[in-house]
Amino acid sequence: MSRDLTATADVEVRRIQPYQATKAYLCPGCNRDIPAGTGHIVAVPHSAPDLRRHWHHGCWAKRATRAPRD
Ligand SMILES: [Zn+2]
Repeated sequence: MSRDLTATADVEVRRIQPYQATKAYLCPGCNRDIPAGTGHIVAVPHSAPDLRRHWHHGCWAKRATRAPRD
């Protein structure tokens, strides 16, 4: 099927609205909590939906555009 332009190769990226964030998550980008009630990003691998990860917006953006030199 069609692929969202915001998604990387095999990952579906979903936006979680503040009202949808009913619990805290650990962001793998910065290893800090995403408090409940905070809008964020969830990345769901197509091949392994159970391995979805929750990211801060800023951390996801940095991950997606991270320069090799960094
Ligand atoms: Zn983060």
